[in-house]
Amino acid sequence: MEKTLSIIKPDGVARGLIGEVIKRLESNGLKIIAMKMLKMNKEQAESFYAVHKERPFFQSLTYFMTSGPIVVMVLKGEDSIVKYRDIMGATDYREAAEGTIRRDFATDIEKNIVHGSDSPKTAEFEIGFFFNSFEVNG
Ligand code: UDP
Ligand code: MG
Repeated sequence: MEKTLSIIKPDGVARGLIGEVIKRLESNGLKIIAMKMLKMNKEQAESFYAVHKERPFFQSLTYFMTSGPIVVMVLKGEDSIVKYRDIMGATDYREAAEGTIRRDFATDIEKNIVHGSDSPKTAEFEIGFFFNSFEVNG
């Protein structure tokens, strides 16, 4: 069973979409094995997204990600990384498939409701970024 990190971004929390996102995860067979709400500071957001530090959207993205509370979760399931990315949809909601979270709720390429790890290596880093071993139940 594979683990992946999910974030409901500040726009998703502010718009009251926590329940909607969780419903889609659970109904697609992804099990939540850790969860918390927190607000990142700029330094934390910059280290979480360090892989994007040379990208033109880095400052705006890290500012957005500190603009309000987020919900972070560890999801477990068969092929959970790819499965969750399928449920999220493409980064740009205009290219996201019908029925995906981003297609249904995102308002621009940055404010796209959710984050998901993109590989096993990334998932390991991202889960460890937010959770210690006692907080991951499975
Ligand atoms: N992003 C952005 N502009 C872009 C590409 C990405 O603002 O042109 C933001 C968006 O919020 C995205 C995040 O940066 O979710 C991380 O980008 P990535 O390419 O890793 O997309 P993801 O893995 O989230 O689909
Ligand atoms: Mg990514």
